Amino acid sequence: MPRSTEAAITQSIGFHFDNTYTKLPELFFQPAKPANVASPQLVIFNRALADVLAINYSNASDAELAQNFSGAHLPAGAEPIAQAYAGHQFGHFTLLGDGRAILLGEHTATNAHTSLRWDIQLKGAGATAYSRRGDGKAALAPMLREYIISEALAALGIPTTRSLAVVATGESVYRETVLPGAVLTRVAASHLRVGTFEYAAALGSEQNDIAPLKILVDYAIQRHYVGCLAEENPYRAFFDAVAERQAQLIARWQGVGFIHGVMNTDNMAISGESIDFGPCAFMDAYNPATVFSSIDTHGRYAYANQPRIAAWNLARFAETLLALFSPDETEALALGKAALERFHERMNLHWLNGMRNKLGLTAAHESDFELLQALFNLMHQHAADFTNTFRALAHSLSGLANVAPLYGNEPGIHALFIAMEFHSWHERWQTRLKAEGQPIDTVIETMNAVNPAVIARNHNVEAALAAATTGDLVPLDALLTALREPFVETEANRGFREGAPPSGTPYRTFCGT
Ligand code: AMP
Ligand code: MG
Repeated sequence: MPRSTEAAITQSIGFHFDNTYTKLPELFFQPAKPANVASPQLVIFNRALADVLAINYSNASDAELAQNFSGAHLPAGAEPIAQAYAGHQFGHFTLLGDGRAILLGEHTATNAHTSLRWDIQLKGAGATAYSRRGDGKAALAPMLREYIISEALAALGIPTTRSLAVVATGESVYRETVLPGAVLTRVAASHLRVGTFEYAAALGSEQNDIAPLKILVDYAIQRHYVGCLAEENPYRAFFDAVAERQAQLIARWQGVGFIHGVMNTDNMAISGESIDFGPCAFMDAYNPATVFSSIDTHGRYAYANQPRIAAWNLARFAETLLALFSPDETEALALGKAALERFHERMNLHWLNGMRNKLGLTAAHESDFELLQALFNLMHQHAADFTNTFRALAHSLSGLANVAPLYGNEPGIHALFIAMEFHSWHERWQTRLKAEGQPIDTVIETMNAVNPAVIARNHNVEAALAAATTGDLVPLDALLTALREPFVETEANRGFREGAPPSGTPYRTFCGT
């Protein structure tokens, strides 16, 4: 490509890279080079997110966008690397690293109040030093899946990495079958994972040296939790801050029936964003044991286990930090234990607050847990759709008779709402609401502001991906449009609000490698 054209492309995108991670010691990363791409074709570009990033795409053609977001063209200031990390995968410690992702750099923008920083990463851009036997490539459908799910979570107000673009590479990737290849541009507060700290701690313990870990933790505090520096022990404060964001995040997942699917420690970002969407999916009928991932045969990452797994992951995180908590081993252990106890409390608190809000209740009451458990048991018993139950509950406040005509096609909701036991539960709930004394309209409004009407339902996601793989982007577009405004019930989003059609086989998701 002639230099002048290259300069034009660079200017038209306008990334403003200010890379800090590459200033860490070299053991934290390896230089990486995006693979050549045969014929990049833009599949989808997230203009709303591009506006948030304040990048300048308006003069760029689709062809230029495809060049920039496939790795075919490297924007000015990019310093492409693969990051090193380790992780506990299904409980087992492994050295990992970005095997199919390349970090281009950290894009910065300044708004009126603050200066913002995002990692810009290409997922599926080819092999790196950490690819082991993998090809570093990704297939189109899994990358679009990540796009859909991350954007769905973002629209629900749940912290998450975002998706800026998906570009088809024009090449095939070879899995069980031959699939079209693609590159996803992922935008994240950072890609520092619990596993990054495990990597640093593991390296250090080989050499009996906590220096790498300390450098990483100091970096993470500067980048995400600068307030900790004012605390008496910044390292303990750092752990608490990370744990607090995880407690908030997992409570939000539980509140919308989101199942991450592979909560390995390398897939837990210390920024508190949801990250590494592989086999994740939203639950349809309520069942606490729901697992979608084809590889999660023992249900380790089932819906109801997510808070416990977060605690398990944070215990691994605390272990890496012990030497920084205190030079005295016994004291460090005691501090770590106390910190994990605090996480349990915070997790329960956020869970309870979130679930109470879903019922339109504002004040805590000692019977809250029991009230919620009774509802969940009934939902489970009648296989009621998790999402639609809470919307139906809001409708029921203006008359129980309103529910049946709205959810006529949903046997689970129907069965729940005619059950005798449910009626007595409904009375208990109404008694609580009356005691709180809020006008019913206000309760309905607040419930509908936290209970989504539209989630990325598995059958809609699959239909959109199947069509997109054959080149038809209309269903994907329609789904993404509906997901952008998840809290309203409109005629246009009616189809996306309906629960899963009956199916003989359980839904299965795959890691997309
Ligand atoms: P993930 O399922 O995305 O969390 O990935 C788990 C680990 O496997 C990470 O270290 C990835 O970089 C690596 N990995 C996944 N897919 C590939 C691939 N196609 N080639 C090389 N490494 C991969
Ligand atoms: Mg991962």
